[in-house]
Amino acid sequence: MEIIVQKFGGTSVANLECMQKVKEKVLKPLKEGKKVAIVLSAMAGETNRLIEMAKKWSKYPDPAEMDVLVSTGEQVSIALFTMLLKDAGIKARSLLGYQIPIHTDRDFGRARILDIDEEKLRNYFKYYDVLVVAGFQGCDCENRITTLGRGGSDTSAVALAAALKAKVCEIYTDVDGVYTTDPNICSSARRIDKIAYDEMLEMASMGAKVLQIRSVEFAKKYNVPILVRSTFKDGPGTLVTKEDPNMEAAMVSGIAYDKDQARITLVDVYDRPGVAANIFEPIAAAGIVVDMIVQNPSRNGSTDMTFTVPKGNVEETVKILKKIKDKLGAKEILTDTNVSKVSVIGVGMRNHAGVAAIAFSALKNENINIMIISTSEIKISCLIKEKYTELAVRTLHEAFGLEKEE
Ligand code: ADP
Ligand code: ASP
Ligand code: MG
Repeated sequence: MEIIVQKFGGTSVANLECMQKVKEKVLKPLKEGKKVAIVLSAMAGETNRLIEMAKKWSKYPDPAEMDVLVSTGEQVSIALFTMLLKDAGIKARSLLGYQIPIHTDRDFGRARILDIDEEKLRNYFKYYDVLVVAGFQGCDCENRITTLGRGGSDTSAVALAAALKAKVCEIYTDVDGVYTTDPNICSSARRIDKIAYDEMLEMASMGAKVLQIRSVEFAKKYNVPILVRSTFKDGPGTLVTKEDPNMEAAMVSGIAYDKDQARITLVDVYDRPGVAANIFEPIAAAGIVVDMIVQNPSRNGSTDMTFTVPKGNVEETVKILKKIKDKLGAKEILTDTNVSKVSVIGVGMRNHAGVAAIAFSALKNENINIMIISTSEIKISCLIKEKYTELAVRTLHEAFGLEKEE
């Protein structure tokens, strides 16, 4: 019995008309005698709506209750979609995370999948041809509902594909593959046929939300190829897989951006051992992910420490810093939420000099000021003013010759 795994995102299940399109996609493998595990997201906009609702109810919503709330979006999708399948005479049922079960740790809001009961899952296929699984959710050791972080249905799908040893995990979305940059902001973006896990991981980490980072980590770990395709348009899509010699050997493979960044500066902290540890230890203990960090050269024994955190964590970070401000000698805490990070990504960068210089001069030509730079072996990131994001992405895309051929 061959089982295939297909995941459909929020825009693919946004309304009845879209769900009918999804039904068509499911019918094809069924006609070929395959069984299908479908993972669905909440209808477009629903998770945001639930989060906004919680914010109105509570200043600091309880994380566990938050997961009970936001996981309901997926419950609605799977129930409605399964009704459509049943009306078409298909043997199908819906499954919530805890019914499989998909076990996770207890990190509410960003839980990690620990294991999936493969046997129980396979057993369901004795009675059903299609299982419609709620994405984004699992349960902890006490059977409390957890969620996997924004975009987490991608990870649910890859984890199911790994558990069922599916040949491929098909991710259907509103674009027909992974592009050299977000096709919705750069019309000359080009679809990539095949991309290596590491490169996709870097693109996702730098903000390309077409796949959740953890889904790519999972796929790499369990060697599950991911095929990204459009629900609304036929085409070959993009295969995310192991690096192979036939892949494009470009110096730069893509440009990503992340608007969910905020800059925090501690002005005039003491320049002595232990200061950085004193700043970042309590921030890490609060589960806040710090991204870029710069420390200016010392002037008369003091220095400025600047770093970035996700926008939603600014308030909490400032609260933590206020408590330790005097101990650090800091004169002021400055915050700026109107920033974004643009990144140039490519495994080919390892063997090429001058990539950073091309990026910086492209930004200079558009008069875009760079606030922070960070680099790794296969990426260069620049923090800029948020309002220049689209311009910077298009400029960098052109500077590295990534446009599609006319
Ligand atoms: P879904 O709801 O199906 O999970 P998402 O909105 O999470 O879809 O992801 C798809 C979106 O990712 C696209 O609409 C596109 O705007 C965005 N995106 C960002 N970077 C890229 C990229 N490099 N290639 C393709 N899409 C990208
Ligand atoms: N519904 C969740 C979100 O909007 C999960 C997902 O769509 O993958 O983040
Ligand atoms: Mg998504």
